[in-house]
This record gives sequence, C-alpha cells and structure tokens, in this order.
Amino acid sequence: MADQCDVLIANGRMIDPANGVDAVRDVALKDGKVSAVGHNLGQADAVIDAAGCLVVPGLIDLHTHVYKDVSMFGIEADELCPRTGVTTSVDTGTAGWINYRGLERYVIEPSATRILAYVNLSGVGLPWRRGEMVYEGYVSASECARAVLNHPQTALGVKVRLYRGVGGDADLRDLLQIAIEAANRCEKPLMVHVSNADVPLRDLIQHLRPGDIVTHCFHGTQPASIIDSRGKVISEAWEARDRGVIFDIGHGLGSFSYDIGRAAMEDGFPPDTISSDIHTFNIDGPVYDLPTTMSKFLNLGMSLNDVIRRATLEPAQVIYRADDLGHLGVGAAGDVAVLELETGAFALTDSMQQVLMGAQRLVCRASVRDGKIWWQNRENAHG
Ligand SMILES: [Zn+2]
Repeated sequence: MADQCDVLIANGRMIDPANGVDAVRDVALKDGKVSAVGHNLGQADAVIDAAGCLVVPGLIDLHTHVYKDVSMFGIEADELCPRTGVTTSVDTGTAGWINYRGLERYVIEPSATRILAYVNLSGVGLPWRRGEMVYEGYVSASECARAVLNHPQTALGVKVRLYRGVGGDADLRDLLQIAIEAANRCEKPLMVHVSNADVPLRDLIQHLRPGDIVTHCFHGTQPASIIDSRGKVISEAWEARDRGVIFDIGHGLGSFSYDIGRAAMEDGFPPDTISSDIHTFNIDGPVYDLPTTMSKFLNLGMSLNDVIRRATLEPAQVIYRADDLGHLGVGAAGDVAVLELETGAFALTDSMQQVLMGAQRLVCRASVRDGKIWWQNRENAHG
C-alpha cells in the first residue's frame, strides 16, 4: 500500500523537546525522513517495539575524536555510534588545515555515522596528545579559514586547544586571538578548549563572540575554572552566555569535575550542551559514551527532558542544523535513538576520579540512521 513506511518505532515514550512532546507516540520513517508521528500509523517494513523505552532524536555528540589511525585520539565512529544512539558525531579539531581533506575522504565519506567537524588552528590537528602549536609554522589563521571554507559540506568552524604549553612559550591569549582571526575570516564559530589553561578563564572567554563554544566548561583545573573562590560562576561567564556564547561539557579524560558542575548548576548555570569528548584514552572509562555522560547529569539532578534536550536540540542549534536534526517533527532527518532509563545502583566516575553512585542510567536499545534500523540490542551496551 502506498503509505507503508520503512520503519515504525512503536509504543515508546517520545521525548522531542523541540516540538514540546513527552508522551507515548509512534514514529514512522520513510525515505530517510520522519514521515508521521502519532498512533495507528499503518504498516511498516520493519518495526521496533520501544515499549518501556524513550524515543528521542538521534543524539548529537558535539565533541568527539574520530580520525582513527591518523591521530592517537581517534576512535572508530561506526563501532561506537550505532550502539550508543549517536547519529551525528562532531569531530573537534582532530584534523587541522593541512590534513582536513583526509578526514573527509577516509573517515567522513565512508562512515555511516553523520560526521561533521571543526578544523584545528594547528595544521596537523591532534596527531599526538600535546604540543600541536609548538612549531609556529603549523599555526595560520588564513590557512585555517581557507580549509573551513573549502569544505562547506563538513566543516563547521575552527577549533583551538588552549592549555599550558600547547604553543611552547606562546601566551594562550595570543593564540586565542589568532584563532578568533581564523573564525572571523571564515565567518564561522570557534570552539575553544579551556582545560588546563594557565591563564584565568575570564581572559579567554571575554573575547568570544556569539555562537562561539567553550568546551570543557566544567573542568576542574586552576586557574581557568568557571567557579571562583566563593564557589560562584565568574561574572564573565554570565556575560558570555548573555551574548550567545555556548558552554559545552566535553567530558574527556581530564575535563569534567562533579564539584565544578554541581557548583555551577547550584548557581543556576547548567551547561548548554552535553558532549563526551570521546577518544582512545577515555572510551574504556571514565567516559565510555554519550549516554553515560548524559546519565551523570541525570544523577546530578538535571531533569530527563533537560538532559535529552542538551544532546539533541541544543547541539543541533549550535551546528546550525536545527531544521533537520535534533527533533522528530515530520520531515526531520530519519535519525532516532531508542534509550532505556535503567534504575539501580551505578558507579559513575568523573575526570577527577570522583565516583557518583547513580540511581538512573541511560542505555541505548536501538538506533535508526537515515530512516533505517542501524543497531538493535536488548543487552547492556556496557557494564
Ligand atoms: Zn577533545
């Protein structure tokens, strides 16, 4: 029959913050898009029974490293993403302006995962853990901007890591200005890594423009903490948020502290986006994946709807894709995550080796990518 859909996700609790939906709904997919939402949606070639599960827009991980075999950080997107509900993975600066086309050709184009990327201000990106801007010939605002503009299908903007020693003796404030110049030249956002910076956070974020992104916003290192000596969020962070700067988690191996996160949220400053910073050195813990990172915020007291929103709708807006990604309205991309909210006792560890005993955990049960069933399992994703 004419209106038969390709995939029907039935009986789940649909949470679609963009459309204000939190209710039991079926979702039908056809020709790679959401074709209907509601009840009694007719026949389907394939059905996912999502009873007891959450049906949410395909997760968008705003901070990942997927340039496998070129960077020490790179993981295989198509191994991790299907089983964790991440349909869009945003590589943040693993490739730089010298080797960006390699990321496109050898990773983005052959992957089933939708991959977008920020281009590193360092031409070589992140081949190794440290020192990507020690050789100053690697640092070029004009070349970085050119690489962003030359790859409009995949490149979102500029990435720079500002930590002690990234440019040898170079002052991080000077490197930031070069990064801003690159982002101004291509008229795209700048994502700034602020963990382990040896200057106060205010010296960095006061220069950021609307749409720029502070990643590792709740890291636990000094002197660049978002929390001051009184336990409050610094005024420059509030001012940055007011003018449209985005504060992203980027959990990572060393960049997320429960203590900082708690203090910020108690002060009324939740993160805008929840991302994993998944890479080789944290995929076996403490990060594991994006649903585990989201679970940490649930157990810090953030509501389920707010957690889902920060891994779907909010990152979709940050990457200027809120028209087709991050929601499940009719016509949206056919990217869906089916998650189970497990209850029990779960040990969840931050980057400071602090363990939170959580009562809830999000686990992916199925994922749909481009309107087709991508992965389905009733077993635990890990642990
Ligand atoms: Zn990272």
